[in-house]
Amino acid sequence: MANTHTSFRESVERMFTHAAGLMTLPPGLEEKIRVCNSTYTVRFGVRLRGQIQTFTGYRSVHSEHMEPVKGGIRYSLDVNQDEVEALAALMTYKCALVEVPFGGSKGGLRLDPREWNEDELERITRRFTYELSRRNLISPSQNVPAPDMGTGEREMAWMADAYKRLHPDDINAKACVTGKPRTAGGIDGRVEATGRGVQYALREFFRHDDMMKRAGLEGTLAGKRIIVQGLGNVGYHAALFLAREDKALITTVIERDGVISNPQGLDIEALRQHIVSTGGVKGFAGGDWRADGKAALEDECDVLIPAAMESVIHGENADRIRCKVIIEAANGPVTADADEVLKRKGVVIIPDMYANAGGVTVSYFEWVKNLSQISLGRLERRHEEARARMLVEELERLSADTGLNWTLSKGFKEAFLTGADELELVRSGLDDTMREAFGKMKEVWVGNSKVDDMRTAAYVVAIRRISNVYGSLGL
Ligand code: GLU
Repeated sequence: MANTHTSFRESVERMFTHAAGLMTLPPGLEEKIRVCNSTYTVRFGVRLRGQIQTFTGYRSVHSEHMEPVKGGIRYSLDVNQDEVEALAALMTYKCALVEVPFGGSKGGLRLDPREWNEDELERITRRFTYELSRRNLISPSQNVPAPDMGTGEREMAWMADAYKRLHPDDINAKACVTGKPRTAGGIDGRVEATGRGVQYALREFFRHDDMMKRAGLEGTLAGKRIIVQGLGNVGYHAALFLAREDKALITTVIERDGVISNPQGLDIEALRQHIVSTGGVKGFAGGDWRADGKAALEDECDVLIPAAMESVIHGENADRIRCKVIIEAANGPVTADADEVLKRKGVVIIPDMYANAGGVTVSYFEWVKNLSQISLGRLERRHEEARARMLVEELERLSADTGLNWTLSKGFKEAFLTGADELELVRSGLDDTMREAFGKMKEVWVGNSKVDDMRTAAYVVAIRRISNVYGSLGL
């Protein structure tokens, strides 16, 4: 819930201004980059339940230094212009940091999706799409929405279909939105992408001893205690992969209806099933339940993953946070006030614009797939397999002919002989993106004594790139 402390928007602006202040930018450019270019507010009516219901929606475009602009659409009662604009700004910086060639945008509809049934949501979504399309706020070449809080594949499929009906002659219509189901032009690995990106970001952090030392950590992810706030799409995938593949212990999960803990590590898949069938974490047999989610955020752990919403760690509770690393899976979970307190305490924050960039990165792959009208790997996969087979057969022949009698292990042979499918290519592209961006942030953080945390480093990298684009545009 938004609190009475520094607002999300103020936080983003303060963090931006802090970083920009450390750079030498052409006169006036800081202001040009900071401001949000435009925000469109729409109020539209849909006849539902025997009366006209009025809804308020927004689409904010922060920066068009690259087009299309990109960013999710959220459905929540908390949606407001300030929030949408701050989120759009973060999208600009996020895309620049991970070198995804888009400007930043964000949208939202003020409604509680749980209050409306599927049929009603579809009608509302289609009508909203129509409003956006009339203003080029959904378009493969200008503005490409995606899922965010309260929306998912289902809403994106409706939007893509509504757009297609309005633009039947647009061969690229599918690329008007990303995060679609596979059957509607989506890409494998998009649903898991943000959580997967959180895992890759954390893995990359753990590969750098000097970074770990700053957080007072050592060793590997195995056995590290992790608290996750919010087991939605992002929190669930991050927790699942970190537990299953990296052997980290998810000791606590904080949800709407309370907290579930198990010092031996929670079974994330079973917990998710429990949430899906009962609506909450209460009553889950694999851990102990308590009511106070706010207090649980302050439990001791190695890594804290806020994966729910903005401003949950603020000036008032920051001092009581007892983790070594915070990885911001949500957008804006730590306010600017809290950021300063945590920095003083030596907590390392892996910032949102990096940590949750997996979503938009894979959205980029999906957009490219839609424009090229072909799935990733389709042309090369079998060719790759044939070449691998040639090599294996040649090695086996040589080994027999020379009497060496080498045998390749079964596991190696199988893995080597299988060409990469779309999911593997997506994961590989995402991993590469996360490693590259980490390297750039680290370079700035380590190389500039005035840069005092990873967030500032991320902003510096992003602002520099945006400034270069403006420079080449002659602005
Ligand atoms: N809503 C996600 C974000 O905040 C994804 C945006 C996208 O894929 O365009 O990054």
